[in-house]
Amino acid sequence: MTGKRIVIVGGGAGGLALASKLGRKLGHKQGFDICLVDRSPIHIWKPKLHEVAVGVIDQSLDGLLYRDHGLKNGYRYVRGEIEGCDPSGKTIQLAPVYSDDGELLLADRALSYDYLVLALGSVSNTFNTKGAEENCIFLDSLENAERFHHKLLDALLQLNESQGKLSIGIVGAGATGVELAAELHHVIESVKEYGYLNISKHHLDVHLIEASPKILPQLPEKVSARAQSVLDKIGIKLHLGVQVKEVTVQGFVTPDGDVIEASLKVWAAGVKGPAVCAKFTSLPITPRNQIDVDACMRVKGQEDIYAIGDCAALILENGKAVPPRAQSADQMADRLYKNIVNRLQDKAELPFVYKDYGSLVSLSRFSAVGNLMGNLRSGDFFIEGHVARLMYVSLYQRHLGSLYGWFSALIYRLAQKLLRWHRPKLKLH
Ligand SMILES: Cc1cc2nc3c(=O)[nH]c(=O)nc-3n(C[C@H](O)[C@H](O)[C@H](O)COP(=O)(O)OP(=O)(O)OC[C@H]3O[C@@H](n4cnc5c(N)ncnc54)[C@H](O)[C@@H]3O)c2cc1C
Repeated sequence: MTGKRIVIVGGGAGGLALASKLGRKLGHKQGFDICLVDRSPIHIWKPKLHEVAVGVIDQSLDGLLYRDHGLKNGYRYVRGEIEGCDPSGKTIQLAPVYSDDGELLLADRALSYDYLVLALGSVSNTFNTKGAEENCIFLDSLENAERFHHKLLDALLQLNESQGKLSIGIVGAGATGVELAAELHHVIESVKEYGYLNISKHHLDVHLIEASPKILPQLPEKVSARAQSVLDKIGIKLHLGVQVKEVTVQGFVTPDGDVIEASLKVWAAGVKGPAVCAKFTSLPITPRNQIDVDACMRVKGQEDIYAIGDCAALILENGKAVPPRAQSADQMADRLYKNIVNRLQDKAELPFVYKDYGSLVSLSRFSAVGNLMGNLRSGDFFIEGHVARLMYVSLYQRHLGSLYGWFSALIYRLAQKLLRWHRPKLKLH
């Protein structure tokens, strides 16, 4: 049983939690080779990418280094980007790695596996909207969030001199768009203390554009209404029931031909599987580039390949697809961890059961709102303010718990809190 190589590709909400659990259980003591492949050397939990974008989080201070974390948690980190999968030879192909100035660091390589887990996440879906790819920034990866951050800093520098207006447009009023809009308003209020003396909230226009008639369309009416009233209060300009037809350098073109002008444009409406999935020609791939899996998260038609998280298309018993959310990825990682351990002990693998714990949306320091799922009798209930914020923070704490174990996660959070006293509130470079 020992000596098997379990390769996990993608160290995000699902993949990193799985690698940590398998590493601690099988890597350290039992001699399994638990190998985590990611194209980036640093992990930031994806629901925090909007905080990277505005500079509240600094990846060099807040990020987890896979190489170090792997050493302490019994898995091996391999830097690489998957570009092919050969189930008959039980290998994956990794693309070459180049330095920032284009020097070849690592040639393309093959990596063999006994069991393979694909946990590649998702990318933004522009639904083929004309001009969106060329003119918008997406918040679907650490690099893109950093790109937005640099553009925001450049814009603030100019704004401080010109004292004009900075207009930022966000398409999609789901959790990502709403959280980013609120965070931007908070940041603009904080930059004065760092020498941007001419900037106030009156110099910022944030346009939030949504095709549905309400913001947070997936969430209960009460949550949407409460979040909307907070956004109204802080001055976010909402454009509801507006489907963007085209994106130009100038801004977003509406069906009436009007243009919502924006110098910084963000697309945060919908997700699909990463483009690389279309290259996995031996695997069943859906039209939205997701990998088709059965109830045990095994890729259909493949004995030794699994997929979890946003990149997996898993239809539940009730006929609904598992939603692309961090709590889904975390739960899938947990079930697959138990299934792999069971499989190694010749026990049965159990089907994935999704438990919806509700949704929480952070409105920066202004508030937080959400709904929590209760038991069958009480149904779901609405929360807001400090309680909602506490629950929101506890989601991240849960993720840290999977990565470090509960006690270490608590120490880690306390240390982070203490460090916050000494470091800038915003990343200013
Ligand atoms: C701004 C924002 C806010 C969000 N807020 C919430 C929230 O409040 N609650 C919630 O439940 N969900 C939220 N989500 C959704 C949630 O983040 C995702 O559903 C979740 O992260 C999916 O986990 P995953 O493991 O499938 O993928 P990810 O966490 O995206 O991880 C994918 C990993 O794969 C790596 N990777 C990708 N392609 C390759 C490749 N070709 N080769 C090697 N490595 C690769 C990436 O570097 C990454 O590390 C939010 C998303 C965003 C963007």
